[in-house]
Amino acid sequence: MSQSNQLVLTLDIGGTHFRLALADEKGQLLRQGKGDSRPESGPEEALGRIKEAIAEMLSGIEPGSVSGMGIAVAGLVTPTTGVLLTSPNLLSWYNTPLKEIFEHELQLPVLVGNDANLAALGEHRFGAGVGSDDILYITVSTGIGGGVISGGKLLTGSSGFAGEIGHMTIDLNGPKCNCGNVGCLEAMASGTAIARLALEKLSHGEASAITDLIDGDLARVTAKVVVEAARSGDPVAQEVVHTAATNLGVGVTNLVHIFNPEIVILGGGVSQSGELLFEPVRQVVAERTMPDYSVRIVPAALGDDCGLLGAAALVLGEYL
Ligand SMILES: [Zn+2]
Repeated sequence: MSQSNQLVLTLDIGGTHFRLALADEKGQLLRQGKGDSRPESGPEEALGRIKEAIAEMLSGIEPGSVSGMGIAVAGLVTPTTGVLLTSPNLLSWYNTPLKEIFEHELQLPVLVGNDANLAALGEHRFGAGVGSDDILYITVSTGIGGGVISGGKLLTGSSGFAGEIGHMTIDLNGPKCNCGNVGCLEAMASGTAIARLALEKLSHGEASAITDLIDGDLARVTAKVVVEAARSGDPVAQEVVHTAATNLGVGVTNLVHIFNPEIVILGGGVSQSGELLFEPVRQVVAERTMPDYSVRIVPAALGDDCGLLGAAALVLGEYL
């Protein structure tokens, strides 16, 4: 391993797993590790295992070659203090001072950010946003999150909570969202929303290929199954995906008018539905955006590595 490269330790903590890597300036993950987050056991237990995994990862690495650590975490983070305030998937991690804990452990500068915010940075430095300083990143999976890069800087807002794209209201009287509000983009265009919309149709007795894919067990309806049925040509599934994509297009239109991005990057599991999703989104944005705006809507390039590479970008760049 070349020691002339600047190396960054990078950690992505999700509700199910954590991932750890040593990244270089080009965004190559030179060493990687992972483990279970086990949120039910509390942060101390997981942090202990993460520290052990870091020690193992750094063995044989010249101490001076690692310039810092970046941490991406699924939750609300205060960027200045690096405290994880709350996380729906890591409830027991309430008020965990991640920056302080790892700076003390490693004697290295540590930066912490929301995983979707950091994914925007990762795509900016290493992925689908390379070459543009005005980017909107949206992850569409179980929920919807995102990040806004404007003029090459990450938009953080006054408390660091900017970019909660999923909780923009799309329908005043829409379905209930996990955040307590109703009609949020997340409640109308996420993977969870796709499954719910399909379930509504199936419980009204509509015939669909989805039923065969789940052997008639409605508890097994997921966005993945719905997308699979839509791909196979099932009209009910196609209508559901089209509805969710149209809602997403309305959300993107709002964001294009507010932030005037050059590129909108769609990532997350649902974005892998390809043209089934992108075509209606592009169409809605084209129809609803004022004529002088111009925007490209493209798929994310970094896949599951977006959190790790985003955390690396946070340390390597000057985004804050
Ligand atoms: Zn919401």
